[in-house]
Amino acid sequence: MGGEASRKVRARKRRSALRPDTALIPVGEPEREIYVWSLPACCLRSLRESAMSEVGERRRLELDCSCGRSWRVTSSLDGRILDRFVTHGGPRAGGSYPAA
Ligand SMILES: [Zn+2]
Repeated sequence: MGGEASRKVRARKRRSALRPDTALIPVGEPEREIYVWSLPACCLRSLRESAMSEVGERRRLELDCSCGRSWRVTSSLDGRILDRFVTHGGPRAGGSYPAA
């Protein structure tokens, strides 16, 4: 048994963690709103990478993960999320989407 596999590095906070009060829906399934901490690990990582990336792009309508899932942010109190993603207001808001 090599020591390499059992290397336990304590997860470090990069800048700061995302706030837990961001909610998302899978694209096409507006009834299934979940909180960010319920995301699959890969999608959470994609979200975090997007949120931490340097500004310079336009805000995104959706988060597209490499696993094939797409998510829309329905609400967030996290400024970095709000900077990176258009929020969609959730299934009950019935709002109009911003022109893309
Ligand atoms: Zn994913």
